[in-house]
Amino acid sequence: MQTVPHFINGERVEGTGELPVHNPATGEVIAHVPVPSSDLVDEVVTSARAVAATWRNSTLSQRTNILFNFRRLLVEHEDELANLITREHGKTVADAKGELARGLENVEYACGLTEHLKGDFSSQVAAGVDVHSVREPVGVVAAITPFNFPIMVPLWMSANALASGNVVILKPSERDPSVSVRVAELLIEAGLPAGVFNVLHGNAGTVQQLLEHPGIDAISFVGSTPVARHVYETGTAHGKRVQALGGAKNHMVVLPDADLDIAADAAINAGFGSAGERCMAISVVVAVGDVADPLIEKITQRLDKLRVGAGDDSTSDFGPVITREHRDRIVGYVNSAADDGIRVVRDGTGLATQPGFFVGPCLLDGVRPGTRAYDDEIFGPVLGVARVATYADAVTMINANPYGNGVAIFTRDGNAARLFSREVTVGMIGINVPIPVPISSYSFGGWKNSLFGHSHIYGPEGFAFYTRAKVITTRWPQPSESQIDLGFPTTR
Ligand code: NAD
Repeated sequence: MQTVPHFINGERVEGTGELPVHNPATGEVIAHVPVPSSDLVDEVVTSARAVAATWRNSTLSQRTNILFNFRRLLVEHEDELANLITREHGKTVADAKGELARGLENVEYACGLTEHLKGDFSSQVAAGVDVHSVREPVGVVAAITPFNFPIMVPLWMSANALASGNVVILKPSERDPSVSVRVAELLIEAGLPAGVFNVLHGNAGTVQQLLEHPGIDAISFVGSTPVARHVYETGTAHGKRVQALGGAKNHMVVLPDADLDIAADAAINAGFGSAGERCMAISVVVAVGDVADPLIEKITQRLDKLRVGAGDDSTSDFGPVITREHRDRIVGYVNSAADDGIRVVRDGTGLATQPGFFVGPCLLDGVRPGTRAYDDEIFGPVLGVARVATYADAVTMINANPYGNGVAIFTRDGNAARLFSREVTVGMIGINVPIPVPISSYSFGGWKNSLFGHSHIYGPEGFAFYTRAKVITTRWPQPSESQIDLGFPTTR
């Protein structure tokens, strides 16, 4: 059985396979992932520090050129990369291509690094004195990524980190690790020097060692909230800058004036795409006033036509979930919903008897705070409908929720939409857009338990996170200006 190699210093490095990788569509174990010894982690970080000392001096044009080549290679290898993702993650090939396209945007943004790394210059701030600022790489970045976007999230982090002159050690999810190794190989083919981008597999213990290692300068993490919180607290306690993006519970408010066909389409697409395993998936539709019954009717009509099957079958709308344990957890939420007074409108748990990790689409009516199906991030093809009387009740529910990743409102009233975007305590807001993932020239980040640390990921905040500022004050005094003055220097 294949063991997925690490990729260290420009080469595949074999390890002993310990953790199983499944094909979620069949349930079979198709590979294993190695867990590195603590000596290997130490070696990789030590060598990354040595490479960082050189790579920080690479020219901006060299980095730009490599990123342009990398972009071309990602496009050329689209089919191969998408199929690798589908095989280990389970999402449809079309969805894997969509993920790649959104990751690619970040490479394109990073290609503009000469613009993003420009400093400021102020001439003559005092007599004969100029000031300028530069941004320098932080050094060695550990990128720790979740299973649900095995190429997009690594690209969110690495494109800007490399463009800024950093060395990256990527610790991908152990559930779908193979595509990261291909990304590393394509970067070498693009001209990146060996050792600048490394893939080190592993588990929680590997992450813990990276969090505590004095050779790591910055941590970019994306994953579940409990782990994000731990990563933030441990990394910062060890003197690192950390951005740690966590889980989500995304609401979609439907006001009484909304076009219900458009809203039902959006609820289906954003609730069930990728089997609901997206951090920006809609998991709760908040139906305001008397919208709930007609909306549920329209959602149900669409839901009944969805086809669940293997990701490499082009007729599938969505594929299996990631593991058997995760499937059983999702089924548990649906099975216990009635105990919380929730009506199960559609129950797709019957598919869970297949060997692959399938759950059909489920629709729950009457989810509300205090019920398990509302309070927890289910991360599966389960859409809840919450009934509220007014717009104000919808905002109260959203703002009381501990997560704040994404939110959407469906309405034809521009003023209500504007008010909503000002009132909700959520980082990314869609107005008649259900999955408002910002384009790569903006940054991505939630509020509350969806992000620990102040820095959003990618875009301008990405470049800020991966660089440190220096401000240089310059004077070229003439011999005639020689004088002793112990006063505090002012610009006056
Ligand atoms: P996860 O937290 O289980 O794992 C994420 C990474 O952390 C993996 O690389 C894993 O090996 C590592 N890890 C797991 N347990 C650890 C521990 N105890 N200590 C240290 N490291 C540990 O997340 P997942 O199941 O792979 O991904 C799904 C989660 O990620 C969902 O909660 C989803 O909402 C979230 N997510 C958030 C965003 C976002 O942008 N906010 C994006 C994608 C996914």
